[in-house]
Amino acid sequence: MKLVRFGERGQEKPGMIDAAGALRDLSGYTDDITPAFLAGEAFVALAEMDSTEFPVVEASPRFGVPVSHVGKFICVGLNYADHAKEAGMPPPEEPILFMKATSALQGAEDTVVLPKGHSKSDWEVELGIVIGKHSKNVAVEDALGVVAGLCVVNDLSERAFQLERGGQWVKGKSCDTFGPVGPWLVTLDEVGDPQNLRIWLELNGEMAQDSSTNQMIFPVAELVSYISHFMSLQPGDIISTGTPPGVAAGMKNPRWLKAGDRMRLGIDKLGVQTQQVIEE
Ligand code: ZN
Repeated sequence: MKLVRFGERGQEKPGMIDAAGALRDLSGYTDDITPAFLAGEAFVALAEMDSTEFPVVEASPRFGVPVSHVGKFICVGLNYADHAKEAGMPPPEEPILFMKATSALQGAEDTVVLPKGHSKSDWEVELGIVIGKHSKNVAVEDALGVVAGLCVVNDLSERAFQLERGGQWVKGKSCDTFGPVGPWLVTLDEVGDPQNLRIWLELNGEMAQDSSTNQMIFPVAELVSYISHFMSLQPGDIISTGTPPGVAAGMKNPRWLKAGDRMRLGIDKLGVQTQQVIEE
C-alpha cells in the first residue's frame, strides 16, 4: 500500500494511491493516518480491501507528511561509507544517532525556506522508516515486523549551525522546513528488499547524489533494533537512515543551497520529492 495525507497544511485527509496510480480518498474509512491508525486493526484490514471501493480524487492536491502526530524524528549519521569519507570522518563502529525537531517536518513538495543567517545549507536524500508498533529491545530478526512502511526524507542541514556553533548537530538539523517527508508511506510488502533501492538527488537538474541503499553500513532492521535498545519506539516515529555521498559539504568548493534552487530527490518504489528553495 501507498498511504498519503493530502490537502492543505493542517487539513490533510487520508488517502491511498491505487495500483493504477490514482489517488483514493480514505476519509470514509479513517479520520486520518495517525500513529494509532498504523498500530491498529484498520491498517491491517485496509491491505486486504479493494482500493476501488474508495472514491477517486480528481484534483492534484498537495501531499503532507504521510503520518500525523510524529512523536520522534530520529536520524542516523554517516551511515554510508563513502559519505563518511567525504565528510572526513571514519565509518562509525556503531550507528550515530541524533534528533531533528518535529517542527521541521513538511510535505514532499513544500517550499524549503533557508533560515535567517544561513551560510552553508545542504541537502541529504535519505530512506525514512515509519514505525508501526510500540517496540523496545527488538531483535534484529523481528525489527521489520514493527515497521509500518518506508518513505523518502530530505534531511536538510545548515552546516554552519550544525558544526560551527558548538554543541550538538540538532541546531543545524531542525530549522523549519528542513524535514520534507513523503510523498507516500509505502508498506514493506510493496517495497521488497529495503537494502536494494536506488537513492538519488538532483540539484537544478544535475545529479548530485546517486547511490543504492545496499551501501548502508547499518541496514534498516539493524537500525530499528539498535535504536530500540536506547529508547522505546512508538507508532508514527520516523527514523531517517543516513545519506549517500554527493552533499555540498563533501565538495572541494562547496556549492551551498541558495534561493531559487530546485531539488528533486527520490528512492525506487518510494516516490519523488521536489522542493523550491527560498530565503526567510
Ligand atoms: Zn542525514
